[in-house]
Amino acid sequence: MSPQLEDMVIVGTGPAGLTAAIYGARSGISPLVFAGTQPGGQLTTTTDVENFPGFAEGILGPQLMENMTTQATRVGARIQYHHIDAVGWAPPSTTQHPTQQAPLKKLVSADGQEILAKTVILCTGATAKTLNLPQEATLMGHGLSTCATCDGFFYRHKIVAVVGGGDSAMEESLFLANLAKKVYLIHRRDGFRASHIMLERARQHPNIEFCLPYEVSELVSEPNTDIPALSGIIMNHTTTNQPRQLELHGLFYAIGHTPNSQIFKPWVDTDDQGYILVQNEVNTKTPGVYAAGDVCDPHYKQAITAAGLGCKAAMSAIRLLDEVSWEL
Ligand code: NAP
Repeated sequence: MSPQLEDMVIVGTGPAGLTAAIYGARSGISPLVFAGTQPGGQLTTTTDVENFPGFAEGILGPQLMENMTTQATRVGARIQYHHIDAVGWAPPSTTQHPTQQAPLKKLVSADGQEILAKTVILCTGATAKTLNLPQEATLMGHGLSTCATCDGFFYRHKIVAVVGGGDSAMEESLFLANLAKKVYLIHRRDGFRASHIMLERARQHPNIEFCLPYEVSELVSEPNTDIPALSGIIMNHTTTNQPRQLELHGLFYAIGHTPNSQIFKPWVDTDDQGYILVQNEVNTKTPGVYAAGDVCDPHYKQAITAAGLGCKAAMSAIRLLDEVSWEL
């Protein structure tokens, strides 16, 4: 059986993928969307979202993603709850018409489907690195977070800690220091990856106390509560191994993200951290392959910026579909 030919395939169902799906579907095509290994993306692991415009009282992250999924489906996107296992090029016999400028792309899904696509939008996001400590999954969203911009507001006048020694850790500490009563910055070395200017800003902030060199070894939660919440940590000095306990309301990991770009290497170039390199915000090196959201954004990493890029990627793809002769 020959593979199905699609106008637009979207990989990933975070804010970028679902916004691309809504724009694609409303242009009159029916995008095929692969939900990926974490349908709804990173927002499904957060609680209240108060910085996505349009929700005056805020909205729960999973609810926001459910709404976007319903909206995308209602306007005609087809969502498949599989991930993509492999990508490549269409076999030469089915490839291009002489006037065609963009090659057909081949995707293989986890359930073995082969799909040929005229355009593909990569929205697979990035995965925040964690310390892999016991209780992480339970406490995520309940005192543990990987995004100060998203969750910091809930820790006004409280005591929090940030783990990491890069620019993200400095940025998150400074952001939190203006909201929280106290911020501990915990880093495993005396040296920092952070830029000098960011580091100095954090050092000079009266609310930030540096804890160096320490590694977090245990997350502490209140026993016997219905919904467990973080109440502190135990960390160990990396040279003396001396333990130290901190009572905290919130702990923020800022130890980097891993962009989920690995399998797309035939179609895209990436930077040394794996972020997809784009021109004009959404164009990869392969005509007809676009990227949007955290998979190509090492800096902003917000739901709203991802949604904006998803919109731009879909509009670029729609333009290409109109301009190129796809006759086979
Ligand atoms: P990063 O520069 O890779 O720093 C990650 C930090 O986390 C490092 O200090 C690292 O420690 C620490 N870390 C990693 N794994 C750890 C573990 N298992 N346990 C404890 N600590 C761990 O990541 P980033 O800070 O997210 O920055 C990523 C990129 O975005 C950088 O290029 C950065 O400049 C850029 N950025 C820029 C801005 C800005 O300009 N405003 C803001 C944010 C990010 P070690 O140093 O010991 O390895």
